[in-house]
Amino acid sequence: MNDNILPSLAAINARITAACESAGRNPGDVRLLLATKTVPAARIRLALEAGQTLIAENKVQELKEKFAELENISHENHFIGHLQTNKIKDLLKYNVTCLQSLDRLELAEKLHQRLLLENKVMEVLIQVNTSGEDSKFGVHPAEAVALTRAVAGLKTLKVKGLMTIGLFSADTVKVRDCFRLLRNLRDEIAAQQMVGVEMKELSMGMSGDLETAIAEGATIVRVGTAVFGQRPTPDSYYWNENAR
Ligand SMILES: *Cc1c(COP(=O)(O)O)cnc(C)c1O
Repeated sequence: MNDNILPSLAAINARITAACESAGRNPGDVRLLLATKTVPAARIRLALEAGQTLIAENKVQELKEKFAELENISHENHFIGHLQTNKIKDLLKYNVTCLQSLDRLELAEKLHQRLLLENKVMEVLIQVNTSGEDSKFGVHPAEAVALTRAVAGLKTLKVKGLMTIGLFSADTVKVRDCFRLLRNLRDEIAAQQMVGVEMKELSMGMSGDLETAIAEGATIVRVGTAVFGQRPTPDSYYWNENAR
């Protein structure tokens, strides 16, 4: 494995800048989040030392394993994986500031109860399944507004926007439809001016489709492979409920 991630980091940042320029957007309005599943802490550290500030895991177990080694270097932790309610307590031990994968009311309610007990608050994004694929988590688009409204009633949860995983397809028109759907939902929810809901983030776009996502208004792009290289574990391990 090539240990030097600096060229790939520079290349990703150049892609983000170019995509912003094509879309007439300010590169400062798009944050790069490093998706660090399967990546050893030492390599994540290299990225943080190179000036990256935002990382995210998919599994609480990996968050826990890497926590000590990254604790003393300044960065922000989000969580982007499917969260089982029995992992909430653990999640709260590791300074995660934003749960990007909030996809059901049961999870929101249990998280809220635990946060109340610990006298904490947490930022959340509502994850929407914009591709219609069974393998992907997220609330059905038709239920996104109602879920957001319900979560808004839970005072420990600060809704900051929406997240999605686009369709995996070489057909950029179809991929773009997913991202446009998320943006339209964001606008629809923002127009309702719900108390406690700030629709500022659109977390969408990954290694293969970040240009398309930026064209549709992404404010956070989540990149793993293009920075760290291919993962040894298939994504179905992270994205499929039945996989262990
Ligand atoms: C792994 C992962 C990413 C990054 O995917 P790459 O294709 O490796 O860039 C983004 N979002 C989520 C939710 C992920 O699990």
